[in-house]
Amino acid sequence: MTAQLLDGKTIAATIRLDIKEKIANRRAAGERAPGLAVIMVGDNPASEVYVRNKQMACAEVGFHSELYALPATTAQSDLLALIDHLNTDPLLDGILVQLPLPPQMDEEAVIERIAPTKDVDGFHPYNVGRLVLRMPLLRPCTPKGVMTLLAHTGRDLSGLDAVVIGQSNIVGRPMALELLAARCTVTICHSRTKDLAAKVQAADVLVAAVGRAQFVPGAWIKPGALVIDVGINRGADGKLVGDVDFASCAERAAWITPVPGGVGPMTIASLLENTLQAAELHAQH
Ligand code: NAP
Repeated sequence: MTAQLLDGKTIAATIRLDIKEKIANRRAAGERAPGLAVIMVGDNPASEVYVRNKQMACAEVGFHSELYALPATTAQSDLLALIDHLNTDPLLDGILVQLPLPPQMDEEAVIERIAPTKDVDGFHPYNVGRLVLRMPLLRPCTPKGVMTLLAHTGRDLSGLDAVVIGQSNIVGRPMALELLAARCTVTICHSRTKDLAAKVQAADVLVAAVGRAQFVPGAWIKPGALVIDVGINRGADGKLVGDVDFASCAERAAWITPVPGGVGPMTIASLLENTLQAAELHAQH
């Protein structure tokens, strides 16, 4: 392996420690702890793991957190009523609805019901729109975490060619907007993209968010590229693997994220940062 490892686990731990200190200082100054409400509907095992990790992170840094675990049969109107209630709770700065929701629910309508200043996932059209207009407020967590990782390479991103594989609302699209805001020249690829290999081969920065195990081979990586692997997939042996073939890509990249221990912990660190930012916003108003 010639690439340097972008160690999200260690960087995220540093961010959590920094937030923990800030919270201790806030509490010492008589301010309340930031509060996060997490809503989970149904019993999706992956969602349960994500929600548990988020709650543990909140406890570690000294945030107040509340979990609302609702049955899969919950009516959308009941979920919206809960969000309305949490929107007005002065002890809560963030509201997170764990996706996916059961099929009877309209995810967009649910996300749009969250007050934009409590939208710590950064998925509300208001927050996405602000990112589009280069005036970000609460930024989508995974792309924000990727930008923090890229900053740790020490590279100036301005003018670099960046390729994002994936155009989802939660990863690919906001990722492309973040890279554009950092003055990269950005190409967004998806399942209809022609000659994906050639596009990836031209990338100084590659972000893979496809959801297919080891989809990107080392032969596609431009020597010296920064390679960020957002994918979380189960390999044939049950182990977690990313969207890039780590061993072969690490032979050509200058920097690469591992899976696990790369982007995943950064997503949670960004959620904590956003919740603290929301608390600071609420304290001003
Ligand atoms: P998604 O909504 O399924 O989007 C996948 C994207 O990949 C789509 O835009 C799709 O294109 C594109 N795609 C699929 N096959 C392709 C192909 N053969 N060539 C080029 N593009 C292709 O997934 P997501 O929610 O963005 O998540 C992506 C991955 O990231 C998943 O593994 C997920 O588990 C992981 N993830 C990780 C974190 C983290 O914190 N580390 C957070 C969120 C997600 P079309 O739009 O044309 O269908």
